[in-house]
Amino acid sequence: MKEYIILDNKKKIIFLDRDGVINIDKHYLYKIEEFEFTQNLFKTCKYFISLGYEIIVITNQSGIARKYYNEDDFKKLTSWMINEFKQNDINILDLFYCPHSPNDNCSCRKPKPGMILQANHKYNIDLENSWLIGDKTSDIEAGINAGIQNTILIASEYSTETDEINTQHIIHNIIETKNIIKN
Ligand SMILES: [Mg+2]
Ligand SMILES: [Zn+2]
Repeated sequence: MKEYIILDNKKKIIFLDRDGVINIDKHYLYKIEEFEFTQNLFKTCKYFISLGYEIIVITNQSGIARKYYNEDDFKKLTSWMINEFKQNDINILDLFYCPHSPNDNCSCRKPKPGMILQANHKYNIDLENSWLIGDKTSDIEAGINAGIQNTILIASEYSTETDEINTQHIIHNIIETKNIIKN
């Protein structure tokens, strides 16, 4: 008798915005020496991984289109950042960025879902059981536009608890996701 094991290879992903979620938002940040990881970030990411999630970063970087910094600056900072995660035993599966300005009318700048759709095309993602964590309503909207219902807003200067948005949860520090994401 043959046994067939059906494997569900779909990945559960935690989509993280960068500025305001991974690092303190300093507006068009591109210098390594100015990059500051947010409090509790690494331990929270380890928690996600312990639950079987993988982490993908999706970030709007219109500073490139605005010529505040160039793509090389961004890539240097990104390699450094991913290495810092590695030093803390955290693997970042991938990072997608939008280098365009709002006027470019591209399909990747959040709130458009382009980066998440691109990630879903590259990896086989279980969107239903994935999460999006951001600090702007445009992050949450990008998630919803891509079919992610599980959204968490980290309250910031861009958002208040009175925001009329569709986010499922509002928190003040990423560590609070432990009370929300439990499996
Ligand atoms: Mg942000
Ligand atoms: Zn774009």
